[in-house]
Amino acid sequence: MWVGTRRQFNGLVIGGLTMMLTKNFSSAEMMCSCGCGEDSMDPDFMSILQNIREDMNRPLRISSGVRCAKRNSQVSSTGSTGPHVPRKNGTAASDILIAGADALRLIDIARKHGVSGVGISQRGTHAKRFIHIDTISDEQHPRPTMWSY
Ligand SMILES: [Zn+2]
Repeated sequence: MWVGTRRQFNGLVIGGLTMMLTKNFSSAEMMCSCGCGEDSMDPDFMSILQNIREDMNRPLRISSGVRCAKRNSQVSSTGSTGPHVPRKNGTAASDILIAGADALRLIDIARKHGVSGVGISQRGTHAKRFIHIDTISDEQHPRPTMWSY
């Protein structure tokens, strides 16, 4: 669904249209960051993500949603078929910038909504800490599981 947006930029009000995948998550924030334009997210995963966001009752900052095979090979040891690479129905994974008590609360709530893959990056500066969640399951990615980075 497209929604109208208005924002202030150097005193100018700029109107635009934003493609939303769910109430709170836009296509732009889930899109591959390499510039290829790939934004295919699994709709079932997106409704889980939206439900998690509503239970958390706070905005969730996505640091990574879709990654095309090329991008994933550049940034992850999981190569061209990692959890962020779109499957048949799109990508069913995302990384969420979150730390401390909120990070633990996110894991509790995500599990309640059926998330079966959890990756934990909770070292170093709080602003860069994140939790990976996914609902994928295939021969290469058996679930449930948990890992750290
Ligand atoms: Zn890409």
